[in-house]
This record gives sequence, C-alpha cells and structure tokens, in this order.
Amino acid sequence: MINIEKSLKITLLGLGLSTSSLAVLLKKLDFADVFISELKKEKHNEFFKKIKNLGYEYEFGFHSDRVFLSRDLIIASPGFPPNSKIMKEIRCRNIPVISDIEFIYRLFPEKKYIAITGSNGKSTTTSLIYHILSKSGINSEIGGNIGIPISDIILKNPSVEYIVLETSSYQLELTRDFSPHISVFLNISPNHLSHHGDMESYIKAKTNIFKNQTSNDFLIIPSDHIFLDNYLLKYKGNLLTFGFDDTSNIKCSGKTLYFNNEKLFKLDKIKLFGDHNMQNIMCATITSLLLGINAKDIKESIESFNPLEHRFEYVCTINGIKIVNDSKSTTVVSLLMALKSFKEDKKIILLAGGTDKNTPLDPLKDISKKKIKHAVLYGKAGERFYSFFSKIVESTLENGLRNAFEKALELSEKGDCILLSPACASFDEFKNFEERGKYFKKLALSKIQG
Ligand code: ADP
Repeated sequence: MINIEKSLKITLLGLGLSTSSLAVLLKKLDFADVFISELKKEKHNEFFKKIKNLGYEYEFGFHSDRVFLSRDLIIASPGFPPNSKIMKEIRCRNIPVISDIEFIYRLFPEKKYIAITGSNGKSTTTSLIYHILSKSGINSEIGGNIGIPISDIILKNPSVEYIVLETSSYQLELTRDFSPHISVFLNISPNHLSHHGDMESYIKAKTNIFKNQTSNDFLIIPSDHIFLDNYLLKYKGNLLTFGFDDTSNIKCSGKTLYFNNEKLFKLDKIKLFGDHNMQNIMCATITSLLLGINAKDIKESIESFNPLEHRFEYVCTINGIKIVNDSKSTTVVSLLMALKSFKEDKKIILLAGGTDKNTPLDPLKDISKKKIKHAVLYGKAGERFYSFFSKIVESTLENGLRNAFEKALELSEKGDCILLSPACASFDEFKNFEERGKYFKKLALSKIQG
C-alpha cells in the first residue's frame, strides 16, 4: 500500500456526507491534486456547496475515465456498489480503494481509535462510550457512521486523542491497515445482504475491525461468539467477553454488573431498557475500565445517559396508553429486542412495516405470541408481515403509518403500549428512519395537544 503524501493524486468517488467533509480536510492539509466524481447530476445540495470553492476539479452525472487515469488512490463513499462498472475498472488497474476511516487512520496513526460495530446497537453504544469518556475529561470525539464524518472530527479538534467511531460494514470493507486500540463487536444478524452478497461476506467485512490489532489492543465480543471463531484463530490482541453467564468477563445479572465475577456496581436509575441495552452498557463499561476510568464515575455517567432519539424512545401517554418510538428498528432482530424489553404480556399494540428487507420473520413467533395484543401492519412489507402475524396474534393491515397509528389508538386501552418498531426500512413513505420517527411523534403528540 502506498504512503499517504500530499503529492498523491486522489479521487473521491461519490460525493456524500463523508467525502465532502474529507475534501474540505484535504484542502486544509494542502493536498493539491484531488478529483471528485459523482454519478448524480444534482449540484445544488449541501455536499456540492461544501466542495465547489475548494479549487478541486469535479464531474457530475457520470463517472469518466478520469476517476482512475493517472490516479494513485481512490477514496470511496461508504456503500459505493462494489460490483459497479467503475469499481471493476479500478480493480483491473490495481488502484487501492479505501474509506475515509482508513485514510484518516493512516494520516494520524498516533491517535487512539475506539471502534464499534455490530448489526444493532452501534449508535447507542458509541454514544454511551463517548458520554462516559467526555464526562471523565478525556480529550475525545465521536463520529463515523453515526452521522459525523471522521474528517469533521479532525477539522474540529485536530489534537483529539481518542476517536470513538461507529463503523458500518460499508466503511469497514474498505479498510486495510485500520487498527483500533479497542474494538467492540456487538452482535451479528442478517442486514445489507443485497450489498455484501451473502452473510459470510457481511461478517468478513465487519471483522476488519479487529484483524490488524496487536497484543496492545482489545477486542470486546459477546460470550456466544461462535460466528466469529474462524476469524479469531489468528487474533493477536486481548479478547474480552460480555454476556449474562458466569463465563463472561463482564457479566450482568439484573441491573448489577460484574467484572471477572467481582461486583462492579448496581445501576439504580438508568433510562435505557431491555437486555439489549444491558449488552450495550456492558460494552461501554468494559471499554471505559480499559481506559482507566473508575467504576463510580462509569456508573454515574451511565445513569445520566439519555436514550438516543428513535431508539425505544418514550414519546407520551395518551389516555393511559404509552407511546414508544423505536423507528430506528429496521431489522427483525431489533424488533425482537424491543418486544423482549417488555415485562408484561399482551400489552403491546405493534406498528410494523415499511420497505421490506425480506428477512425471515420466524424468530419473532414465540415472543410475539406472548407480548403482542394486536399487530397493525402497513407499508410495502404490510402484506408479508400480515400473513405472518395474523397466524399468531390478532392483526390488521393498514395503508400507511398514519392510518396504522389511528387504528392502533382505536384498538388500545389504558395500560397498553403502542410501539412503533417497524423491522423495515422507511423509504416507501419517508426519507429515512429519522423522518419516520419524527412524523410518528408528531401524530402522537397532536392527540394530546388537541
Ligand atoms: P445501530 O446504530 O446499530 O443501528 P442503534 O443503537 O441505533 O443501533 O439501535 C438500533 C435498533 O436496535 C433500536 O431499535 C434498538 O432498540 C435496537 N438495539 C439497540 N441495541 C441493541 C443490541 N445490543 N442488540 C440488538 N438490538 C439492539
């Protein structure tokens, strides 16, 4: 792999959130020859505004040969289709293609990287770790897949010591040397398979988070890590496990956390619910302990942490009916986790549906029978979901989220909970899960505001 020098001829392939910020950083660092290529014609968006006055050349509406002719390095937007024609042309010419994360790592290898991946829980765990670190006065920043490009971190705080990074499979598949000091691998379940091709390639992309770690580094994984075992055969770092059983290095029983079976602390008043969040808490705790933060401070920080918006977020109570917004739940596993978080049986009016990811729904069978009073299914996935749920619990098929919510209100009574946990992407009705969650909250709040 080539050395990163300011004389490099770099192409930014795809202009999005991370590459537009990277262009700004490259300019600031005096990289002279940067070329930007974006397939979409649209030039009036926020990304274009960021790059238009940098003095770099660009093309919009197509990818020409300029992308690879006489170029040393390609930095691609995360998720750029690996089998596109342009990627094939680049591969034929053996030009390295990396992600922004790999590039920044190679520019600033002296900084400490704490990277978090998994199919679910990345944003919550990343935010919680950052919350604990910043409360402890550690010079740290948060970024990556959470919506803050790593380049923005460097632009904002060039002397940052600890970079807490949410890393997606898209970002990790384009790394080579990236080697975090601490890596957290939360879990795995089917996701993004149309991009990666199959489950094995998806897992393999994610294992880049630890493959270069050395004996000075740490990897935190679930105690049931059989899915990783083949990749761990040559692992050189230090392994630590989290779970609910005695074999785990960090264990949780009720709300009490243990490290190597010695009590650390009991969490008295946390605002994160469910076993899945206890897993996130265990990972954040072990990371913080490794960085020398004392148990009392970790406990206090966890207790002061507020759940992120759209992740099992309490919205309001309408006539004794609780409304919970879990719009970020875009997979079957996150719906499963949401259902498991409820202590009482048969109190949930579930709203699920949207753009179908076509993952099997069978894992939801037993828990749905137990916890769901009525399922209201909607959107493009509505029919498939309806044919599954209607065999198990009372179900209704509705048109869109608005009608589904009205129906849910009609069906619920005092003591119930209307839970939006769609297990689907949102694109059939909304721009993204944030827009879906905000719309849902507005619908709910309009009922109490009259
Ligand atoms: P990600 O960034 O990986 O999508 P989030 O923290 O944004 O993860 O949470 C996404 C969804 O997954 C939410 O619906 C949340 O309730 C659920 N979730 C959070 N943590 C976990 C976990 N450890 N295991 C499974 N599901 C989780």
